[in-house]
Amino acid sequence: MRRLPEADRDAIRIAQDPHFSRWLEQITATGGCAHPVHLSGSTTTLDGATGEILRQYDTRDEPGERLLVRCRNRRATVCAPCSRLHAGDTFHLVRAGLLGGKSVPATVRNRARLFVTLTAPSFGPVHRTGERCRPRRDGGTCDHGRPLGCAAEHTPTDALIGQPLCPDCYDYSGHVLWHAHASKLWDRFVIDVRRRLATSVGLVQSRFAHHARLSFARVAEYQNRAAVHVHAVVRLDGPDGPVDEPPPWGTADRLTDAVRASAGRVLVRTPYSPAVGELLLRWGVQLDVRPLHADGGGDGPGDDAVAAYVAKYVTKGASETGAGTDHRVITWADIDTAPVSAHVRTLMRTSWRLGGLPEYAPLHLRTWAHTLGYRGHILTKSRTYSTTYAALRAERAQHVGDAEIPDAITEAHWRYVGSGHTPGAALFAAGIAEDLAQNRELACEGRNV
Ligand SMILES: [Zn+2]
Ligand SMILES: [Zn+2]
Ligand SMILES: [Zn+2]
Repeated sequence: MRRLPEADRDAIRIAQDPHFSRWLEQITATGGCAHPVHLSGSTTTLDGATGEILRQYDTRDEPGERLLVRCRNRRATVCAPCSRLHAGDTFHLVRAGLLGGKSVPATVRNRARLFVTLTAPSFGPVHRTGERCRPRRDGGTCDHGRPLGCAAEHTPTDALIGQPLCPDCYDYSGHVLWHAHASKLWDRFVIDVRRRLATSVGLVQSRFAHHARLSFARVAEYQNRAAVHVHAVVRLDGPDGPVDEPPPWGTADRLTDAVRASAGRVLVRTPYSPAVGELLLRWGVQLDVRPLHADGGGDGPGDDAVAAYVAKYVTKGASETGAGTDHRVITWADIDTAPVSAHVRTLMRTSWRLGGLPEYAPLHLRTWAHTLGYRGHILTKSRTYSTTYAALRAERAQHVGDAEIPDAITEAHWRYVGSGHTPGAALFAAGIAEDLAQNRELACEGRNV
């Protein structure tokens, strides 16, 4: 036994523990979470009228006197099982807003619904895949002596993809400041779409809310050049949201026109800086607007495909997409050692440098240097789009028999006592996570037959 690796010896020790089967139940309940949170505490459920104890739970009776719960991290690089669960929840959340379900009526599928992709503008030419990168007949060089074009044919795995042709010409300040204002640009965009819709049907703008409501779910994704772009589902309802039919003028064509016009028009001004000046930030000219069709007809993508597409992006960490890192950088030296490309490192350094200027203090650029200045959530949705992550988790808790008892009072006392696994426990957890993933795959195959 002494010759076995430490993890195996630890696993054998765990398996010989008299509480092993209960411990395994706990690990299974976390879905094989890679970094579970350890809690110590108790809950007591009392009858609201009589004060009689209906149910009592105390971690004193558990192995190690603790309960393990999921870390709930959305990133696959941090915890694969929890990220799968999060992707599933995102899929259901986005899908419910498109097709109904989870308290959203099925009639939403007949409304005007668009799948919109908004991009960042150009901050300078970067190497790209495709036939030829950036062909130029007249050749020529920039002020730094670097070629203005690139005649190469890059393969998709080429490390040059997304890197600027000239780092000295590239507008790094513009890129970082655009990230820092992207959420504001989105808010202005939504307000402007409402305005345009109102104007197009002769409504006073302040009356729009009495006639219709715009709902959306959007997800941010880093492109090759490490600039965020936004995929969004946009839907037009009646004034009370999903339960309410939109007015007859609320067609997909009218919504498309408003989205296109607003995307080209809205802008955000950066605060004036002696070092950078004042920038006018807009969306990039690349814009994609596709109406979604209820019957899967037309040439638009299907509802399920859109929900799956959006769900895929929320599980990607910044490190996985090759933009930034999953952890905050604390010092300038952290940026030097981060496992990122030269382009991303320069973006991180630019965030750090601009973050030291008083005029940009409200943007917290040093706190968000690891995400290159972007500080929005990966998934954002309006209140009436569909359900919430919290509601989906509550629903799952009920499925595993933790249903609410009516008229009951619950007293709970919980304390954090640690996190993670010992090397042997990690082996068991990984095995369980793999089993669950395989079962899910088999179940999916069964459904498709
Ligand atoms: Zn986890
Ligand atoms: Zn190139
Ligand atoms: Zn140059």
